[in-house]
Amino acid sequence: MTISPILLVLFSSLSATQAPARPANAPEITVSARARAIHESAIVVDTHADTPQRFLDENFDIGSTDPHDPGELSLDKARRGNLGAEFFSIWVDSSTNEGHFAQHTFDLIDSVYEQAARHPDGMMMAFSATDIERAHREHKLAALMGIEGGHSIENDIRLLRDYYRLGVRYMTLTWSNTNEWADSSGDIDDPKVQHHNGLTDFGKQVVLEMNRLGMIVDISHVADKTFWDAIAVTKAPVIASHSSARALVDAPRNMTDDMLRAVAKNGGVVQVNFFSGFDDENFRKAEEAQAKDLAAAIQQYADQMKAQGKTMTADDRDRIERELLTKIPRPPLSSLIDHIDHIAKVAGVEHVGLGSDFDGISGQTPQGMDSAADLPNITQALLDRGYSAEDIRKILGENTLRVMREVERVSREMQMK
Ligand SMILES: [Zn+2]
Repeated sequence: MTISPILLVLFSSLSATQAPARPANAPEITVSARARAIHESAIVVDTHADTPQRFLDENFDIGSTDPHDPGELSLDKARRGNLGAEFFSIWVDSSTNEGHFAQHTFDLIDSVYEQAARHPDGMMMAFSATDIERAHREHKLAALMGIEGGHSIENDIRLLRDYYRLGVRYMTLTWSNTNEWADSSGDIDDPKVQHHNGLTDFGKQVVLEMNRLGMIVDISHVADKTFWDAIAVTKAPVIASHSSARALVDAPRNMTDDMLRAVAKNGGVVQVNFFSGFDDENFRKAEEAQAKDLAAAIQQYADQMKAQGKTMTADDRDRIERELLTKIPRPPLSSLIDHIDHIAKVAGVEHVGLGSDFDGISGQTPQGMDSAADLPNITQALLDRGYSAEDIRKILGENTLRVMREVERVSREMQMK
């Protein structure tokens, strides 16, 4: 889930989807027979989609084949894009769920299981790299879960263990909010928020317990100091489940080159986010410039509603946001590919993957990436840039599978002691 810092200040909550009325796309990208064959031979793993918000709030059915559905992920779209495994994001809005983070976490976990139960032929719950391979052989989408924001554990290590037992296989140490044991990049400059200079002692314990359980430590969203603390403490590889490169786009959610090299040394993977605001500097600047207009439009609408004795809903806000954001030209697909390329060059091709943030970025993706069905376009673009079939398969999924296996191995080792 990505909400620009400016919007975060304005909004108490945003509905995750009802994606975009997108401006016209670029001419259709042609996927060659060779690219198609490479793509079909890969186990494609995406480490971040916010679709559970839709399951819960909109009663969205992942089996939907509605051609007008604005969402970026469905079983049909996954099939067309040869998506093999999705980490569904269990994201609890910290501002609207105060006092019951765990309850909402459980509700979202339940929503993923319910979808899998409804579609046993097309989807199965998965908890390990081996499960993902099995789902692949059975031509089903492997459904995994990652918690987005350490506030979900309510400062209780037992709750962390319960989430693992329910199948959660990664946790992002923070979302855009600093919690009681880790600083976030989302509010690090806000003097009203109490910060900890990275991870507290309890935060370090959380990281080690995640290592012991076999839950991947995810450092997307965290403040820079939290990143360095987590890297120093962890005994297993980490991921940045949905972040891009800061050398190309100056967003605090993106990773510096030093961080990329540290993740490489740690054996981890940075999964590139598909959000235009993280992948294209022109888009990011335009979004920043638009923030005032957006704030004014929202305030005006809120005042109107108030005058009528009504309150503005999250959907209203989302609609206003989309109306304005869609006025910014969509960047080309090459913006996204540039980040894969940059991370492959700086960290190595073993340390880059895909973390779309589908259904969490208000439809703001580059041209040629409307939904999971467009994933083969990435393979085509990488092929065009001279990547080998072997390296493309690593980027599409093998790197993430390697991290999962290594995290599983470290867990077994720690539990034997
Ligand atoms: Zn996010």
